[in-house]
Amino acid sequence: MALARATGQHQLVVQTSFLGDTVLTTPLIAELATRGPVDVVVTPASAPLLARNPDIHELFVYDKRGADAGLSGFRRLAQRVRAPDAREGAPPAIAYLAQRSARSGALALAAGYTQRVGFEGSAGQTLYTARVPYREDRHHAERLWRLACPEQSDGETPRPKLFPGREERAAVDALLGAATDSRPLVALAPGSVWATKRWPGYAELAKRLAARYRLAIIGGSSDSSDAASIAEFSGAQGVVDGTASLTLLASAELIGRAKLLVTNDSAPQHLASAMGTPTITIFGPTVEAFGFGPLAPNSISLGLDALACRPCHHHGPPRCPLGHWRCMRELGVDAVAIAVDEVLSGC
Ligand code: SF4
Repeated sequence: MALARATGQHQLVVQTSFLGDTVLTTPLIAELATRGPVDVVVTPASAPLLARNPDIHELFVYDKRGADAGLSGFRRLAQRVRAPDAREGAPPAIAYLAQRSARSGALALAAGYTQRVGFEGSAGQTLYTARVPYREDRHHAERLWRLACPEQSDGETPRPKLFPGREERAAVDALLGAATDSRPLVALAPGSVWATKRWPGYAELAKRLAARYRLAIIGGSSDSSDAASIAEFSGAQGVVDGTASLTLLASAELIGRAKLLVTNDSAPQHLASAMGTPTITIFGPTVEAFGFGPLAPNSISLGLDALACRPCHHHGPPRCPLGHWRCMRELGVDAVAIAVDEVLSGC
C-alpha cells in the first residue's frame, strides 16, 4: 500500500464519531495541513471543539440524526463537501475516513473524492482505494495519524491539540473569579455517556482533596446535579462548577489551567491530552490497552488489573453484565488519592 503524498492536494477528513475521537483526530489534521488544504466533516456536538483550529480549511457539520437525516440529507452534504474540480496537472483530491463506517466511505465517493483512505477491516473498506492497518497496539491518536503516514516507524504518539481563544479564556476568568485563592487547581470530570464508566468515588475524593487544592468540576449540563452533590459532600469552599456554563473548548481552557485532571475513560482525558495537563484516568469496564489512555506527560492510568472480567466491553456497557460492578466499586478512593499526590509531587 503506497499512498501518494502530494503538496497542494485538496484533502477531506470525515470524523463523525464521539467527542474524544474528534480530539484524537487533530494530529492527522495537522499532518495533512502540511500538504495542502484540509476540509473536515464532524458532528454538531464535536464541531465547537475544532473552532479556531488553524489547520482546517473548512469545517462541515453533518447532523445525521437531525437536519441532514436520510438520503436527501446525505446527498446535500455530499454536494457541500464536493471535491474541487481537478486542475490540469494537480494531484487528485483525497479523503481520509477516520471512522470505520460504510457511510463515511460512501460520502467521500459521492463527493467525488477519487482517492479514499481508511482502515483495513472497516465496514466501508470496499469503498476505499487504500487501506491502512488498524494497529491495535498503538494509541488511537497514532492510528488516525497513520492514515496519512502508514509507513512511519513506531515512535512517540503525536499529541492532539485544541485552540481555546479569547472567548474561552474570558469565560474561565469569569468562572474562577478574582485570583484570591492560591491553592493549586485540580479538575474532576465525574461524567461519562456510559454509566458503568462513572467511578463512584468522586465525592469522597473531593472531600479528601478540598483542604489542599481548589477543585473544579468539568462536564456537560447533564453532569450538573452530580457536580452539585460532589461540591456539597466535599464541604469545600470555592468549588468551581464548569458543567452548566462552559463550552467544550472553554472546558479545555479550564483543564489547561489545572495542575491535574482526575477523570473516567471519557472525553475530558482527551481534552487534557490536548492541553498538556497531567491526568489520572480511572478505567473500569475498559482498559488503557484499547488505545485511548491519557497522553499528557506525568499521567497515570488506574484500573483493577487482576479482575478477570475486565475488559467486558469496548465502550462500557450500560449496566454491569455480572451485576456486581466490581471494576469501579472496588477501585478505592485511597488508590486515587495516592496517585493524585504522586502526580502533584512531580509537578
Ligand atoms: S463485567 Fe466486570 S468489567 Fe464489566 S462492568 Fe462488570 S465488573 Fe466491570
